[in-house]
Amino acid sequence: MPRSPVLPSSRPADAPPALHVLAKPSGPICNLACTYCFFLEKEEMYPGDRFRMSDEVLENYIRQQFESQSGPVATLAWQGGEPTLMGLDFFERAVDFESKHNTSELHVERAIQTNGTLLDDQWCEFLAANQFLVGISIDGPSELHDAYRVDKRGEPTHAKALRGLELLRKHKVEFNILCTVHEANSAHPTEVYRYFRDELGARFIQFIPIVERLGRDEGVTDESVRPEAWGEFLCAVFDEWVRNDVGTVFVQSFDAALASWVGVPPGVCIFNETCGNGLALAHNGDVYSCDHFVDPDHLLGNLTETHLIELAARPEQVAFGLDKRDGLPKYCLDCDVRFACHGECPKNRFGIAPNGDTGLNYLCEGYRRFFRHIDAPMRAMARLYDMGKPPAVVMAMVAEADAAIEAAYSATGRNDPCPCGSGAKYKHCHGSHGRSASQRPAARS
Ligand code: SF4
Ligand code: SF4
Repeated sequence: MPRSPVLPSSRPADAPPALHVLAKPSGPICNLACTYCFFLEKEEMYPGDRFRMSDEVLENYIRQQFESQSGPVATLAWQGGEPTLMGLDFFERAVDFESKHNTSELHVERAIQTNGTLLDDQWCEFLAANQFLVGISIDGPSELHDAYRVDKRGEPTHAKALRGLELLRKHKVEFNILCTVHEANSAHPTEVYRYFRDELGARFIQFIPIVERLGRDEGVTDESVRPEAWGEFLCAVFDEWVRNDVGTVFVQSFDAALASWVGVPPGVCIFNETCGNGLALAHNGDVYSCDHFVDPDHLLGNLTETHLIELAARPEQVAFGLDKRDGLPKYCLDCDVRFACHGECPKNRFGIAPNGDTGLNYLCEGYRRFFRHIDAPMRAMARLYDMGKPPAVVMAMVAEADAAIEAAYSATGRNDPCPCGSGAKYKHCHGSHGRSASQRPAARS
């Protein structure tokens, strides 16, 4: 087997155990023009470029990705821009290169993130045959999705994305929904979640907050989600999920939170204590510290010249990863939910804390609200997990707690103190307009 001309003679002892790379074969190029998209501006970093990954870069990447793994699994993840713009033949060659270079017979996990609009039967047959996990970007029902997800003529794209999803389902391709949460859909959490669950049949869902800065000291774009709305969104979806769907629908943020409550790594970089194991690969072989830091300051090198293992072990990359932990403001160090939040992604750390600390995460208020809100059911699920019982048992516990709360509220007179402990009269508090159990204080399990 031909070996990499740039493979180090011995594997550095401090090489990360599992190296994740998000490959962007078409760079930032996309067939849509979503109004909140941050990646299109990256075109300016490669002026005049066609943004097509060459076979030389493709083969180097795949070989080095296999060579970089110390465990039994290699993940090949494709993203954009819109990666399907590369054409099906590019991905067929990628699979051929896998066969050529997977000499240790690692288990290969393939993932691709797409807007779904270019999928057809041929694509889906290929994705099914090669067991790709497809992430498809849908922001909710058409009126919420189409608020920002438009094509280059400003036309809505929901129907096209849904046609892609139907084809995935027809060909039994495993998919998850990636929903960005922004100004247009953040006030509709239950509607969005139920739409995915009930109408699209989704079993795996990721919610990603849109946070785009206008510039230093200039706030965020109009499309960005507000911190309090992000917290409310997560709480409302959680309340629906914990009453109905534990064990049948998997929401990435909730899985990660449960891992934190159980005391194991959350598996999602934004909630890890440190980062640095998720590189981004540009179309021309340039490797960056992270998908969220594709900029000249975070360029580690090019994999046609330096092996991925060496790039990932570079001191600046190690420092980048540790800085997530070491750069936390004191406000975070004193926070009761830091074990689950860890200050989220450094990309979003441009806020000012109530104590004047700089570098607070813009979404802090939302995360505090969310992680505190889910504490009781998460503790219950963690206990169940420790006892070897399925976390889904929590649904019965929450139902029981809801019933007890319901009984307490029904026995309360309009002028009595509200059972929630606010000190206000019931008629001015939770009795003001017949709220449902899920809108009452989180059940204490
Ligand atoms: S910078 Fe943000 S997105 Fe990148 S690895 Fe760290 S937490 Fe994850
Ligand atoms: S909730 Fe806020 S204060 Fe607490 S760790 Fe997260 S960002 Fe820091």
